Amino acid sequence: MAGTTSETKVDTVNGTTGGAGVDYDALVIGAGFGGIRMLHELGKRGLSAKAFESGSGVGGTWYWNRYPGARTDSESWVYILTFLEELGMDWDWKERFPTQPEVEVYLNRVTDHLDLRKKIEFNTQVTAAHWDESKNAWKITTSKGNTYTCTFLITATGPLATPLKPPFPGLESFKGEWYQTGLWPKHKVDFAGKRVAVVGTGATAVQVIPVVAHNAKTLTVFQRTPNYVLPARNYPLTEDQQVALRRESEKVLKRARSQSFGMDFVDATLKSTDLETEAEIQRVLEFGWEIGGFRFIFETFADMLTNAKCNDMAAEFVRNKIQSIVKDKKTAELLCPHYTILSKRPPLGHFYYETFNRDNVELVDVKDDPIQAITPNGLHTGTKEYEFDMIIFAVGFDAITGTLAQIDLRGSEHQLLAEQLNKDMATAYGITAPGFPNLFMVSGPQAPFANIPVIIDNTVDWIGKTISFMRSNGYERIDTKEDFAKNWSEQVEAAFNATVLPEGAKETRSWYIGANLEGKTVRPLFWFGGVGPYFAHCEREINEGYPGFVFSSPEQASRARL
Ligand code: NAP
Repeated sequence: MAGTTSETKVDTVNGTTGGAGVDYDALVIGAGFGGIRMLHELGKRGLSAKAFESGSGVGGTWYWNRYPGARTDSESWVYILTFLEELGMDWDWKERFPTQPEVEVYLNRVTDHLDLRKKIEFNTQVTAAHWDESKNAWKITTSKGNTYTCTFLITATGPLATPLKPPFPGLESFKGEWYQTGLWPKHKVDFAGKRVAVVGTGATAVQVIPVVAHNAKTLTVFQRTPNYVLPARNYPLTEDQQVALRRESEKVLKRARSQSFGMDFVDATLKSTDLETEAEIQRVLEFGWEIGGFRFIFETFADMLTNAKCNDMAAEFVRNKIQSIVKDKKTAELLCPHYTILSKRPPLGHFYYETFNRDNVELVDVKDDPIQAITPNGLHTGTKEYEFDMIIFAVGFDAITGTLAQIDLRGSEHQLLAEQLNKDMATAYGITAPGFPNLFMVSGPQAPFANIPVIIDNTVDWIGKTISFMRSNGYERIDTKEDFAKNWSEQVEAAFNATVLPEGAKETRSWYIGANLEGKTVRPLFWFGGVGPYFAHCEREINEGYPGFVFSSPEQASRARL
């Protein structure tokens, strides 16, 4: 970028410098999938860059969520950064759904392969980021008290990075051990011979529960809302499968880029209304159940998310499966959900329902008798006391905006990003927001609800191309047009409202509309209009010369400041 000036700092870690009076061309917040991919993109395009990461290692979600049983719900062959093959990094996943340790090793390998570690400052949070109108630059402050300036700021904070604290009084009085899944310790946690409680039955708890059940003396699961837990049907990948996946990787990723949720599925074209008999419908659903994972939703009926009757039939199918797996009638009944499938993000199970047939496992319904407090020896609901040696809280996240809200991130009018998003959410493709010049978000609000690495690749590529466009045209500032962002926001609402999901999502406090947290505005936090159309929108924006944005040269930017 531009040459150094007298104001330019030299980074003591990697010796790079920013230009035009800033310390760095770009600063990145987070070193998970998004941050790593972004750092590489910036380096490739010749920008000086640095990332800040609150953990002591890379991984983001895959660094913090090291609870037993943690693994991906996306098939490994599409849970991958797509460009690495070109760069000569070979990698073979071991399983259909890789474990947290394997994903963490993968991200460490990527970081070293791309030689990015020297550009990451670990154990450091960005506490504030203020747009400085007079300098046309961002000034950021870290938890270590250091400040840096940059031309571009990129948040790669992840969609689910702020775990909710256990929302019960009395936790400090508990004499046993307690853990939060989203902040799981690095040391081994021993369940053997202990009376363990798990609070929550979302995708995280569903992964923890079967593992803990093997060793605990007793396991008591506190459930408020049951989920449609789809069987994952994980398997180890054979050498032949790995060879085939490597050979087919380009085709596989092309398929994922056009599948509605960014997976290697072939979206169903058959509608439930095309079939005449109940037996035919059951056969299709049985196929989805047997093949495992989210294929139950996407490879069965094309009208699963738009036709309430089709969704009801699938829901009834899952309830019948639960009834046939779980021996105790009352437990089976409690595990049966009664709302629209996908109005809560369905978890993938690894012998989840089967776990409730064990003698040492008990399900407690707290829908009408909520947990009221943690006590020195356990917890109590309105009607009963329970004693435990260990409590595991898997109570969810302040999704997407929660992590942005932890940063005092202020735009051109000194307004807070999190406040603006909560009050009046409007972004351009979930990547930029009006009033926040030169800010890009990876995994921002209103980006697709989909397999995350596929979206990250697209977003980072879009940001990289946009920055290169600015540099080759002599622009130093990008602003998002307000009406353009408003229009995207309306499209996000419309896409969600075209599905059968909104009512159930509200009713069941779904996190993807922010309903799991009091005080958060309830609205779709994601684009539900499909990955293919989303990528087409992003591409069109570039091809049509960025109609949703205003670019300024240094002279225009400084004239605007006068
Ligand atoms: P979640 O789906 O929001 O589940 C939180 C659970 O805690 C819910 O069962 C909730 O009950 C319960 N809960 C919260 N407050 C409670 C209270 N006061 N009393 C009783 N129960 C309470 O959170 P999560 O399981 O961490 O999963 C969040 C998302 O992370 C997933 O949907 C998924 O997208 C992602 N995730 C992905 C993977 C993967 O891909 N491998 C794995 C894990 C998680 P209610 O439902 O009644 O509110």
